Amino acid sequence: MKNIPELFGCKVFNDAVMKERLPKDVYRSLKNTIAGERLESSIADTVAREMGAWAVENGATHYTHWFQPMTGTTAEKHEGFIQRDGESGVIMAFSGKNLVSGEADASSFPSGGLRATFEARGYSAWDPTSYAFIKDDTLCIPTAFCSYRGESLDKKTPLLRSMEALSREAVRIVRLFGDTETTHVTAECGPEQEYFLIDAEAYRARPDLIYCGRTLFGARPPKGQEMDDHYYGQIKPRVFAFMQDLDEELWKLGILAKTEHNEVAPGQHELAPIFGTANLATDHNQLTMEMMKKVAARHGMACLLHEKPFAGINGSGKHDNWSLSTDTGRSLLKPGKTPSQNAQFLLFLTAVIKAVDENQDLLRISVSSAGNDHRLGGNEAPPGIISIFLGDDLMALLEDIMAGAKPEDRPRTRLNIGAGVLPEFSRDTTDRNRTSPFAFTGNKFEFRMPGSSDSIACPNMILNTIVAQTLSEFADELEKSGNFAADLNELIHRTLIEHRRILFNGNNYSEEWAQEAQRRGLLRFDSTVDAMAHYTDEKNVKMFDRLGVLSPTEIASRQEVLLENYSKTLLIEALTMIDLARKDIAPAVLRYENELLEERGRKSLFPVPLSTGLEDELLKRISSLSEQLCSRLATLEADVVRAKEVTGTLKSAVFYRETVFSDMAELRAVIDELETAVARKYWPFPTYAEMLNSIK
Ligand code: ADP
Ligand code: MG
Repeated sequence: MKNIPELFGCKVFNDAVMKERLPKDVYRSLKNTIAGERLESSIADTVAREMGAWAVENGATHYTHWFQPMTGTTAEKHEGFIQRDGESGVIMAFSGKNLVSGEADASSFPSGGLRATFEARGYSAWDPTSYAFIKDDTLCIPTAFCSYRGESLDKKTPLLRSMEALSREAVRIVRLFGDTETTHVTAECGPEQEYFLIDAEAYRARPDLIYCGRTLFGARPPKGQEMDDHYYGQIKPRVFAFMQDLDEELWKLGILAKTEHNEVAPGQHELAPIFGTANLATDHNQLTMEMMKKVAARHGMACLLHEKPFAGINGSGKHDNWSLSTDTGRSLLKPGKTPSQNAQFLLFLTAVIKAVDENQDLLRISVSSAGNDHRLGGNEAPPGIISIFLGDDLMALLEDIMAGAKPEDRPRTRLNIGAGVLPEFSRDTTDRNRTSPFAFTGNKFEFRMPGSSDSIACPNMILNTIVAQTLSEFADELEKSGNFAADLNELIHRTLIEHRRILFNGNNYSEEWAQEAQRRGLLRFDSTVDAMAHYTDEKNVKMFDRLGVLSPTEIASRQEVLLENYSKTLLIEALTMIDLARKDIAPAVLRYENELLEERGRKSLFPVPLSTGLEDELLKRISSLSEQLCSRLATLEADVVRAKEVTGTLKSAVFYRETVFSDMAELRAVIDELETAVARKYWPFPTYAEMLNSIK
């Protein structure tokens, strides 16, 4: 029997360990740092000494500054604790300097142009708000990563800045409602992580999965997810063993893995942790993805985190549950007990509604990647159009407010801002619509567009920033007010009417909604390329700059990196496809064709005439398909060459999207048909049916 409470966090230099090991004054000073004050340099050495000793006692031999470059992965450079001691001895040592900052060659990380103008060196700075932990016998110190001039080269820094901006503006608002105690407001987040598991042998036989994370071809299986028999279905023993092992690894790292279940598609599963601060949740989600892959390998399986590993089968997302709470323990997205708390809830709700409507472009950008493009817009994931689902009760309430009905004329709800109470919104009334990209679920919003492999740093950074912006506008207006209650009512009334177009409770997958959304003037971006061009729009640059989240150069560099990443991903996919088509698929087709020809030849030598109808039919089909294979392959190859000649990051990405991507789709269509035409024994790759059912 395992003692879970004892196991939990055993690899983390967490609060309990700090309290136990650090001198009282150092511990207190570090806690202040975690709460947002500057680190006193005098305590760094003491903290480092204890942290290092603790790590060595727990088996660590190395340390690393663990950071998150703009590509959305994590990076580490290991340094040994080892140091000379006298002539022949060594000691394990770790200093305050080692802890607080590191220097890394930034030239190998994408900088989106920042590097060209400045130095190649990159600096990492300890983030004391995220605990250090031990992984692979290495003490990992969560850090921010920036250039010589202090420009952020990572995903953590802007996230931390956005949390600060949001806290600052939210505190201004709660002050207006008489809250004098709150000093900090935190964005909290619980990301639900979807993933696929397939057998390692099937994985190894699919170079497209290995190089691209998704299958580049594969005919529809006879049985996909039509029977809906996988969702919440019985968990297979191998998968169960994996989940147990994974939970344990995550618990050791202090990650609150909580819910594990099967998802809709065969071989698809989900893990949800208990929510935490947006910063911790982001670090933990990165670690969770890493552990999923490692633990799967241990169990002879491969974990696929791509947004769309199998065409025609549900893809994987990451629902970002997001809420706001005060350091006094109050949720700001939950109706309260008093009229004033209810009014405050309505103001925060209104702020989110306005923020989402005014920044549809940024929310779409925050989830843009080549992988997620396959998912958004498919009939399983939110479409590329952003709207908010509030549920019937809350919607009725807002309708009343917008109609300007007096409290006593509001038969549908008991609520008004001046007096009375809001009904408690149960999950039942708020969580019915699974098609909405942005749904209110009782005391939090669930942003359902992020892709399964994405870091949630960017979606959370954007959410925090846009809400900070609207809160700041509200605070500017209300702080000047001479009649708070009346001006508050007027502000909510006016803002809701202005932004009501973003509210939609219906089916987001329907064609009618796409048309309706267009009538309402909502934005629709079908691809990363369409969306990404707007990152540097004046409205966005101004807002990020004003709130101190991203400077104009930092935004430009992010746009550059994301677009570059998009083009590179498509290039790798195209090259992989060409390689497999030439070296594996074409030879398989020829072998089968040859067998048919030989068979037919033998029959024609037979003294009695035999029917060759079947051979002729099959040969005709194969020959016509192989001709198409030949020409479509040639087109893709030629366009890949042309793509390399296109200059400019955006132009290049557009070419990949418009030309290379559609060439690949054309080629895939022939290959998938060939798969159904060529004899099984010649087909060189496991089929969809084999992969999706590879775990018994
Ligand atoms: P679902 O029905 O969407 O699967 P769950 O109850 O499983 O919903 O919760 C999904 C995620 O939302 C979990 O990670 C959970 O910790 C998180 N969550 C719950 N409450 C909050 C909150 N107030 N703020 C942020 N995340 C939350
Ligand atoms: Mg959910």
